[in-house]
Amino acid sequence: EAAKARFTERNATSLNLHNEAVKSLPGGNTRSLLHTAPFPVFLKKGDSYQVFSEDGHTYTDFVGEMTAALFGHSHPLITKTLVNTITDIGMNLGGTSRFEAQHAALLCSRFNLARIRFTNSGTEANLHAINGAKRHTGKRKVVVFTGGYHGGCFSFPADAPAENCVDRDEWIVAEYNDVADTKAKIEESGDVAAVLVEGMQGAGPCIVGSHEFLHQIQESARKVGAVFILDEVMTSRVSEGAAEVGGLEPDVTTMGKYLGEGLRLGRLGREEIMRVYDPRDGAALAHSGTFNNNTLGMVAGYVGMSQVYTPDVAREFNAMGDRLQAKLREISHGTKMTVTGRGTVIGIHFLEDGKKELKSYRERKDEHELKDLFWFEMMEDGFWISKRGSIALILGTPWEELERFVGCVQKFLKRHEA
Ligand code: PLP
Repeated sequence: EAAKARFTERNATSLNLHNEAVKSLPGGNTRSLLHTAPFPVFLKKGDSYQVFSEDGHTYTDFVGEMTAALFGHSHPLITKTLVNTITDIGMNLGGTSRFEAQHAALLCSRFNLARIRFTNSGTEANLHAINGAKRHTGKRKVVVFTGGYHGGCFSFPADAPAENCVDRDEWIVAEYNDVADTKAKIEESGDVAAVLVEGMQGAGPCIVGSHEFLHQIQESARKVGAVFILDEVMTSRVSEGAAEVGGLEPDVTTMGKYLGEGLRLGRLGREEIMRVYDPRDGAALAHSGTFNNNTLGMVAGYVGMSQVYTPDVAREFNAMGDRLQAKLREISHGTKMTVTGRGTVIGIHFLEDGKKELKSYRERKDEHELKDLFWFEMMEDGFWISKRGSIALILGTPWEELERFVGCVQKFLKRHEA
């Protein structure tokens, strides 16, 4: 209660703006995830690794637009590219252009993929991937996992499986990291078109799939002829993605976020499956979207991947994330804090029994009330962090700032005898 009162006092302008916003937006918000109680802090602008609130506070941005803000806010080269694209080329030409082919070729080679189709978001990428799998297999069901998040209209929390999905009968929900359950659910239905899984469950936050589990999915999917869709919308920025790390060979990989420079993009896949979209074949599955090949996403995405987030930069950056994780784990010994994640995408949990491994979203359900307090107090210390406790680092964040964070976390743990 004391933390909440301090929060309200520090963020009076945001409270006023929120009270206005609720008059026209349900709950004053248009992205449920960004709602925080008692009310959300309103942001005014971002610059590099920082965001600035309407209340006059400066934060180091750890939300990182849920991994999409990888390059940093208004990165000079990306900004220049966007401005030049608008002035010299135009935003959306309504025709095929060299820009999409150039970006696709880069992504195919970077992520070892056969063919790509662009979409407007990760959600759409997954929807199309599922449609493609149904067409390819002639089957109807999709195996997904508790705690999985694949977009605004399909997520699978433990207490309400498939609650926000368009067609609830479409899904078979298995338990993440549970090899026996997964194998049974994929192999016994007889009607499985696809298995859709994240290599690390982002909404967990950051619960990592075991090597054995992910390989079992691949094996079972192959056995029944289902399409193995690996959702790398969040994880592709971690080295070259989960497929590289785990030696997996998914049939279709979906991606998004930073690859379209935070604008729009999605979906990639293997040749024989991607063929269902080839419009030279009269029977092809239609895949459209007015902004799919907009020049902003195509050109800035290409520049971002070829000149900013090069493979060397990706390796170094994720090594920095690993170093931060190691430091956080070190100070978590003997406390209720648990650290999960890969590279620069990190989850912080507070578990009653202080156990240091987290294999499923269900286990996370016993999270301690310290989690809420952690959010309030990290905000006071100047860290913009998601309420669920996930961190997505932004390029250009100084190491000293990450050390300051570790110091603040350590003080928090001591202060509350966690
Ligand atoms: N899949 C995963 C794993 C995600 O984390 C997200 C977004 O957070 C999505 C899909 C949906 O992407 P978008 O928000 O671009 O629709």
